[in-house]
Amino acid sequence: MPALLGCIADDLTGGTDLSGILVNNGMQTVQMIGLPEGPWPAGADAVVVALKSRTVPVHDAVSESLAALRWLQAAGCLQFYFKYCSTFDSTARGNIGPVADALMDALGTEFTIACSAFPATRRTIYQGYLFVNGVLLNESGMQHHPLTPMMDANLVRVLQQQTKRKVGLVEHGAVGSGSAAIAERCAQLRREGCGFAIVDAISDGDLDQIGAAAADFTLITGGSGLAQGLPQNFRKRGLLNPSRVADAAMAPHGHRAVIAGSCSAATRNQVDAMRAHHPAFRVDALALANGHDVVAEATEWAEARVGAEPILVYATAAPDEVQSIQATLGVDHSAALVEQALAAITKKLVAMGVGQLIVAGGETSGAVMRALGVKRLTIGRQIDPGVPWTTAILEEPERGPLALALKSGNFGTPDFFLKAWGQLTPL
Ligand code: ADP
Repeated sequence: MPALLGCIADDLTGGTDLSGILVNNGMQTVQMIGLPEGPWPAGADAVVVALKSRTVPVHDAVSESLAALRWLQAAGCLQFYFKYCSTFDSTARGNIGPVADALMDALGTEFTIACSAFPATRRTIYQGYLFVNGVLLNESGMQHHPLTPMMDANLVRVLQQQTKRKVGLVEHGAVGSGSAAIAERCAQLRREGCGFAIVDAISDGDLDQIGAAAADFTLITGGSGLAQGLPQNFRKRGLLNPSRVADAAMAPHGHRAVIAGSCSAATRNQVDAMRAHHPAFRVDALALANGHDVVAEATEWAEARVGAEPILVYATAAPDEVQSIQATLGVDHSAALVEQALAAITKKLVAMGVGQLIVAGGETSGAVMRALGVKRLTIGRQIDPGVPWTTAILEEPERGPLALALKSGNFGTPDFFLKAWGQLTPL
């Protein structure tokens, strides 16, 4: 099978989210953490390169994305996908617009779509306005985001601020009429000099139609949801085996643990639910700052408990507590202390025989993957929208594979840490 779809994701858990959607729709997918090396993985229909480019300086985001693109082009991918957050997380300068512009220039393509809608997680776009959980983006809590505050829900305006190309809109009138109407509207916008079209979408069916309309686009940009409409195009062209089972997850043996570094609302509920049923160790940022050997304490605590049942190690705290910690230690310093501690504890847990691991939080997942030296994930079965089980091969081969679920902070139902284990297929 040839390399079909080459994807570039602007963060790690976003990449896993996208990979999971491709797998659910029948594409065998491998996720690379950071810039890939070596050949295209055998048997993969799609590769998702997960970068950390959402909030880095524009120049760095562009150059890393172009480097990822070069690898995907060299592998011969037929189509390319730039994945960003379903809440269009960006600053006034980028990085969505500048990265998309650079990818278009490099690919020599004049037009693409931009659609971050993901109705399954209640992100919808209507008349160009993005709604999150039924309210406008700038009233959804995202207006308070520490790094990418979103003050305008009108994605045409937001993207126009970030790109040199003209941005138009494919309204729901066309989207609801199906793929031919969407393609016609795109062609019209193109004639009018637009380089981008924000596309309305309020249902899964809309995403399928948009995907069909974009079958011949060299580059597609969007959230993860939009990708669900792409595998059908390859299947229609006979490039994808219709009976392919892409999510044959294997469950590596080993003890079960959860590491939570996200303080997002969904993760806070999940931590509460897990603490009610299983042993839990709280990592205290102030204790870390005061020089306590929290990693040693957590390791000793875990040694006495691991194996009998799933265990939880968390730094998760309520917004007022996080604010007060940040006021004392500084935002960057507190984040780095907590990330390093959680990553070091995870290494110890894996050495103790943890083989099934959930990590909550995008930055936290990145830190843990770096500590474990994980460079590639094979994507397995979905636990909740946006979060699949994955399998990682660790650098020390004698350790055997590790089952990993990397959860973006705000994804998953409250019982996520309790139910996820049930989705693992026994070896
Ligand atoms: P999300 O996916 O919810 O955004 P992330 O892991 O990306 O989660 O970000 C959460 C950040 O908050 C991390 O940098 C983490 O180290 C930091 N953090 C976690 N707990 C605390 C805490 N108690 N005080 C201060 N910072 C914290």
